[in-house]
Amino acid sequence: MTCGVNYRKGLLDEVKSNNERCIFECSPLCLCSITCSNKLVQRGPSQDLYVKEVENKGWGLFTRKSVERGKFICEYAGEIIGREEAFRMFKVGKHRKYIFCLKEHCGGKVSETYIDATNFANVGRYANHSCSPNCSVIPVRTGFMTPRLAIFAQCNINKDEEITYAYGPSDSRVSSLPCFCGANACRGFLPSTELDR
Ligand SMILES: [Zn+2]
Ligand SMILES: [Zn+2]
Repeated sequence: MTCGVNYRKGLLDEVKSNNERCIFECSPLCLCSITCSNKLVQRGPSQDLYVKEVENKGWGLFTRKSVERGKFICEYAGEIIGREEAFRMFKVGKHRKYIFCLKEHCGGKVSETYIDATNFANVGRYANHSCSPNCSVIPVRTGFMTPRLAIFAQCNINKDEEITYAYGPSDSRVSSLPCFCGANACRGFLPSTELDR
């Protein structure tokens, strides 16, 4: 049996913008060992992350050490919920911030997954949006049909720099929520999601 090749030296070779590819890792049921190079996300997040308050943005996620392009940072963990529930929960104030809508295009079909990090989450939920982000979220399957949302560095990141990704494609419509990312290319507002419509 040969394992899939998604990573080289522990790094994802091509990190494009959000959701443009899907990765299949070896599953826990594969006969290979846990040290297999195709079980990167399963081995857990970077140990160098910390959370601190950022002006105008609430909490933000940071790295204590510099990060190489292609490195796995952490998952955006949460509860998988159905489409109807996602729309219902989105209207409830505190859930609004933490529902991630993943849209995947495979075989001519669009599949949607909604992940709610309101009640069950990890540090991934503190990663803020940027209009010029240093990370992307990439769906990774680790033996199950449901993807895990893996945050990967799409460029080299300096020590103590904030970890950010784009909450929506750069050509998506914007919401009414102001963006404080500070990027030169800031669009002024956060992207709107499926659930805003
Ligand atoms: Zn393997
Ligand atoms: Zn911005």
